[in-house]
Amino acid sequence: MEFRELKEKDGKYIAATYNRFSAEIYDGNGATLRSEDGKEYIDFGSGIAVNSFGVNDREWKDAVIAQINKVQHASNLYYTRPQAELAELLCKKTGTRKVFFSNSGAEANECAIKAARKYSFDKYGEGRFHIVTLKNSFHGRTMATLSATGQDVMHKYFMPFLGGFSYAEPTFAGVKKECGNGTCAVMLELVQGEGGVKALDATEVKKIEAFCKSNDILLIIDEVQTGNGRTGRLYAYEHYGISPDIVTTAKGLAGGLPLGATMFFEKCENTFSAGDHGSTFGGNPVACAGALSILSRIDEKLLLEVQGKSAYLRTHLGRIANVVEVSGLGLMIGLEITKNAREVAEKCLERGLIVLTAKNKIRLLPPLTVSKGEMDAGLKILNEVLSE
Ligand SMILES: *Cc1c(COP(=O)(O)O)cnc(C)c1O
Repeated sequence: MEFRELKEKDGKYIAATYNRFSAEIYDGNGATLRSEDGKEYIDFGSGIAVNSFGVNDREWKDAVIAQINKVQHASNLYYTRPQAELAELLCKKTGTRKVFFSNSGAEANECAIKAARKYSFDKYGEGRFHIVTLKNSFHGRTMATLSATGQDVMHKYFMPFLGGFSYAEPTFAGVKKECGNGTCAVMLELVQGEGGVKALDATEVKKIEAFCKSNDILLIIDEVQTGNGRTGRLYAYEHYGISPDIVTTAKGLAGGLPLGATMFFEKCENTFSAGDHGSTFGGNPVACAGALSILSRIDEKLLLEVQGKSAYLRTHLGRIANVVEVSGLGLMIGLEITKNAREVAEKCLERGLIVLTAKNKIRLLPPLTVSKGEMDAGLKILNEVLSE
């Protein structure tokens, strides 16, 4: 099938929700992807921060295939080893006490929202359900997580949205202003991903944490994008020296398979009991086997490499013409540019480089294992396109 036919078929049969780039991803190796006709792309997108170790990582594939050869799905009515082992590893690495597994970022956040409301209900009774999120945040596409998302452009067509959310300026004063007696939680991305790759100020975050602690307001950190080594720490909250009550993650967790996790620290470890929440696919053994392979290899050495690669990329990106500012943390990098980001992304693609956008910024999320050669090849194309 020619690419033209593929596009036709896709256009005819797939719901038109995606504004796809004009490229087919067929196979590849590490941070190099290929279309069926052999065109190669350097991958600075990782399938939106999902392919943590690139594609076709040998160890990851061995772990996934070994599980596929045992059992592919069991449901949560029974015990499976990869799920229990992954939960144990997450708890040991982060100090979290309990984990709920789902299939996506939105579901991980949906679970956090339910847990925050139940925690408050159990302790304070009805009426204390309000959750404060930030302006420009992104928490997912389900009705609850869209309601939690602080962007007006997302609040169209689908009324009524779920009540009980408000959106604060990304400062301590802003968050405090939105919190009242009915507030049960504050939910934050520490580096806003879709909102433009902006890291929150550490002093402000520390103040928000202290305010939440003294008012028994749960602090939920959405690490769907920032988690699993992406920022140069296992989870981005470690950069900020804070102790959240709930951390959600998904994207890079299973290295390419759908898996979400909601992690409950001490305060809410016993919030859920049997029947309070559930998922048919959540914590699927194949996805968990993939996650075990990824998570067990995100060690200090790898995190230092991520930090080194980040510094290397940022230095070189900062020197490129028409780049106004380089933002972000670790291998989650935003470029404010004087050109149209979508057009730049399309030109990069034509020349063999995959980059993402976030608002009018270029967003770079290369695999954590991206090589020096791949980084240099990508930088060369970005330099050519942005200097034009
Ligand atoms: C991508 C993302 C989500 C939604 O994840 P899905 O897997 O697409 O449901 C939620 N929060 C953040 C911060 C994200 O980057």
